Amino acid sequence: MSLVGHLINGEHVAEADGRSQAVYNPATGETTKRVALAGRATVEAAIAVAQAAFPVWRNTPAQKRARALYRFKQLLEDNAGRICALITDEHGKVLDDAHGELVRGIENVEYACGVPELLKGEYSKNVGPAVDSWSELQPLGVVAGITPFNFPAMVPLWMYPLAIACGNTFVLKPSERDPGSTLLIAELAHEAGLPPGVLNVVNGDKEAVDTLLADPRVQAVSFVGSTPIAEYIYATGSARGKRVQALGGAKNHAVVMPDADLDNAVSALMGAAYGSCGERCMAISVVVAVGDEVADALVAKLAERLRALKVGPGTGAGCEMGPLVTRAHFDKVKAYVDRGVAEGAELAVDGRGLQVPGHEGGFFLGGCLFDRVTPAMTIYREEIFGPVLCVVRVPTLQQAMDLIDAHEYGNGTCLFTRDGEAARYFSDHIQVGMVGINVPLPVPVAYHSFGGWKRSLFGDLAAYGPDAVRFYTRRKTITQRWPSASVREGAQFAFPSLR
Ligand code: NAD
Repeated sequence: MSLVGHLINGEHVAEADGRSQAVYNPATGETTKRVALAGRATVEAAIAVAQAAFPVWRNTPAQKRARALYRFKQLLEDNAGRICALITDEHGKVLDDAHGELVRGIENVEYACGVPELLKGEYSKNVGPAVDSWSELQPLGVVAGITPFNFPAMVPLWMYPLAIACGNTFVLKPSERDPGSTLLIAELAHEAGLPPGVLNVVNGDKEAVDTLLADPRVQAVSFVGSTPIAEYIYATGSARGKRVQALGGAKNHAVVMPDADLDNAVSALMGAAYGSCGERCMAISVVVAVGDEVADALVAKLAERLRALKVGPGTGAGCEMGPLVTRAHFDKVKAYVDRGVAEGAELAVDGRGLQVPGHEGGFFLGGCLFDRVTPAMTIYREEIFGPVLCVVRVPTLQQAMDLIDAHEYGNGTCLFTRDGEAARYFSDHIQVGMVGINVPLPVPVAYHSFGGWKRSLFGDLAAYGPDAVRFYTRRKTITQRWPSASVREGAQFAFPSLR
C-alpha cells in the first residue's frame, strides 16, 4: 500500500517517525493508502531548512519570486485532471466541484503573481528639512500553515503562494485525511522552480501542529479548521509571541423574504446546502424563512428537489453529491440527524439509510431537510458539516437578523429578496463577515480577503487578498537624513518636531 510522505527541502521523505494512518476512498469505504504522521524531529527538520532558505529567498527580487508563481499557475492548470482525481478519490466530492476548488485556489496564485506591486511601500520626501521617510513591508521568516480536509487544494493555496511571494519560507501541515492532492500541488511548485526549503510539507496530526506552535523559529501561523482547534491555535501561538490568524467553523444562515424569487432561491440553496455534502465552511446550513407562507412553499420545493438529488461516487456521471469524508464523520453527522428528530424538529426529508448500489461500503448519507427547527436545538446551535439543512420560521426580517446576530458563528450569510432597501439594511447591519445578496456562497474573490466574524475567526487579519499581504509582512519605517558636511548642529534635547 502506498504511503503519502513529506516534502522537505524539495525532497520526498517517507515514514521517518514510524507513525502513519489510513486514507480512505470515501465512495467505497476502502483504505487506499496511508499517510505518514510526522513526529517532532521531522517537523523540526522542516523548520530548519525553511529557516536556512529564508535569507536568500528574502533577498530574491519580488519579480523573480513571482516568476516561479507564474510557472506554478501554468502547471496547476496543466495538471488539473490529476489533482482533481486525487481530491475526489480522498475527499469524495464530485469531480466538477473539485475543479471548482482548484480554480478558486489558482486565483490566489494569480493574485500572488502581482507581488511586486503589492509590496510597493510608502514614501514621503522632506518630512523635515532634508529628511525623507518611507515604509516598507518586510517578510517575517518561517511561516506555518495548518489546513482542513474540506478544501485540500484551495485552502493551502490561500496561504503559501502569497506568503512565499512576500519573501517568507513556509512549512505546511495539511489535513491528514486527504493529503494526496496537497502534496502533488507542492511538488508542482517545486517543478515551477521554487528553490528547495522555501516550501515544505509535513503530514501529521496534533504532534506536528504542537511542534510548529512550540518552535520559536516559526514567526506566524495561518490556520483554517474547526473552531475549538482554531481557538487553541490562536491562544497557544499568540501566547508564544507568534502572529496568528485562525479561521474556524460556521453556521451560515440564508434568509428568504416573501418577495424573493423562490425558484431561484431554491436552486441556490440546493447547491449551497448539499454541494460537497455540506462539508464547506460557507455551506448554508440554516434557512430562515420570513413568514409561514414562504416557509411552506420553500420546504415543499426543497423537499421535491432533494428527493431527486443524485447521490453517488464523485466520479459518477451526473452525480451531484458524493459521500462524507470518513466513517467517523458519517457517524457524527447521522447522530446529529437522530438528535434533531429526538429534540422535536420535523424531518421533512430523511437521508439516513440511503444505499448507493455498488458502493455499499461508502460513507453515503442522503440529503436531510429539517423544518420547524428552533434556536434551542442542538442541530441549530452546532456546526454539523454534513448534508443537513435546517429551516427556521420567523415573522420578520428583523427577527431573522436577531437570530443570526445571536449565533456564536459569523462566517457567511445571505439574503434572498427583490427589495433593495431590505438588502441594504441587511448587509449594513448584520454581524457576519461575508454577506451575499441573492448570492448563496459569498466567498470573496482572491483580491478581496476571506474572513468571518465572531467565533469564525480568531485574529485581526483575514485570509488571502490584501489582509494576507499585511499578515505575511511586517512594516518597517525608515527615516533618513544625509547631513551636509558644512552644517553642524549641536545636541537637541527637545523632542524632534517640525516648527
Ligand atoms: P479540524 O479542526 O479537525 O482540523 C484542521 C487542522 O487541524 C488539521 O490539519 C488537523 O490535523 C489539525 N488538528 C486537528 N485536531 C487538532 C488538535 N487537537 N490539535 C492540533 N491540531 C489539530 O478541521 P477539519 O475537520 O479538517 O475541517 C473542517 C472544519 O474546518 C469545519 O469546522 C469548517 O467550518 C472549518 N473550515 C473553516 C474555513 C474557514 O475559512 N473559516 C474553511 C474551511 C474549513
